Amino acid sequence: MAVAEQASARGFAYTTLTAEELALREEVRAFIKAELPVGGYRPCLGMSADHDPEFTRKMAARGWVGMSIPTRYGGPAHTAVDRFIVVEEMLKAGAPVGAHWVADRQSAPTILRFGTEEQRERFLPAIARGELWFSIGMSEPDAGSDLAAVRTTATRTDGGWLLNGTKIWTSNAHQNHWFIVLCRSSPNEGDRHEGLSQLLVPLRGTEGLEINPIKFLDGSHHFNEVVMTDVFVPDEDVLGEIGRGWQQVNSELAYERAGPDRFLSVYSTFEQLLREQVAQGELSAKAFEAFGRITARYWALRNLSLSISRTIDQGGAPAVEAAIVKDLGTTFEQEMIGLLHDLWGEEPSLDAATLGNQLLAACVLTGPSFTLRGGTNEILRTVASKGLAAWYGVNR
Ligand SMILES: Cc1cc2nc3c(=O)[nH]c(=O)nc-3n(C[C@H](O)[C@H](O)[C@H](O)COP(=O)(O)OP(=O)(O)OC[C@H]3O[C@@H](n4cnc5c(N)ncnc54)[C@H](O)[C@@H]3O)c2cc1C
Repeated sequence: MAVAEQASARGFAYTTLTAEELALREEVRAFIKAELPVGGYRPCLGMSADHDPEFTRKMAARGWVGMSIPTRYGGPAHTAVDRFIVVEEMLKAGAPVGAHWVADRQSAPTILRFGTEEQRERFLPAIARGELWFSIGMSEPDAGSDLAAVRTTATRTDGGWLLNGTKIWTSNAHQNHWFIVLCRSSPNEGDRHEGLSQLLVPLRGTEGLEINPIKFLDGSHHFNEVVMTDVFVPDEDVLGEIGRGWQQVNSELAYERAGPDRFLSVYSTFEQLLREQVAQGELSAKAFEAFGRITARYWALRNLSLSISRTIDQGGAPAVEAAIVKDLGTTFEQEMIGLLHDLWGEEPSLDAATLGNQLLAACVLTGPSFTLRGGTNEILRTVASKGLAAWYGVNR
């Protein structure tokens, strides 16, 4: 069956990789083998990966950063399935993809879709070169799941806008160059989804902008609070239309939800533990069973996620399917930590003698965030149930 016939417009359809896609996967695997030899580096946990500008630049040289950017803006114009392949291999290896992660996944497609020609030319080639990194400026202390409740304001001034407010949980704001801020640009008068806008704001050397670290349970620093006091944003850094921020941010969120990042956070730990168990001799029957169960779940989730990428390449907008995969994927990631913990028998510790046990401890400490970031499972179930009700004409 031709690939084009394999994916359906709605729901999930089994799809396989073409010869060209398999060749790309081989190329990525060879790159990883050379750059990140097993035993020669410490694997990261999925998308909470280390910031490694050099690694990002090497990936960019292969055309694996800003993958969706068209060639006229200096990008490699890859498909969503190509991006799936690269991301899957990188996350399985625990590669240090932290610097370009957000720019590649969502900022570049958002700027491409809503940005002016000048913004596309200014930002996209630098993203594709792996030199320009982005953060996400959505959440606020009282606006996470209820994103329309943002209280950061943009007030009109000569030649631009003055931003005032506080963003929270801003991953890697202390290391990245820019973030896209969701803010209220006109007062809330009735429909809360009206009057929101998105502004492009530099994170380094900006007058009135302060970045304060928030440490994770395991002591690592990814998160920040970003406080903005009369930050001036010129008109040329308004992204899209003033007042259309809600529609734009929802489209940005759709890029976040269904990729392999939503089920591979524990994979490098799983593989390391398996490697260590095998090195110690025969696997126990209990380990065989657990690893078999985990592998079967991975395969199912991977095929669901791949089918979403194929649908996107065929012009579909699988928002409902993406919400379902994120819910299933992140729930599985958390269950897996428990399964590995039971199997291991030792108390995981960041100071343990083995790398597998250290990684498992990091999973235990950071695992609760898996079902929160990018939208909590309760919110995703609401998205999925509303979407499914609409598909089947059910009035609730
Ligand atoms: C690792 C990580 C990285 C993140 N990085 C970023 C980032 O870079 N930029 C950024 O802007 N944000 C980021 N976030 C924030 C993230 O998007 C929010 O944490 C998330 O949207 C949830 O919002 P909240 O934390 O305010 O929880 P709340 O919205 O306060 O939710 C608390 C609980 O109530 C439940 N709940 C809320 N509303 C409903 C409802 N209507 N129905 C049923 N249950 C409900 C939720 O499911 C949750 O269990 C990150 C979060 C994490 C964990």
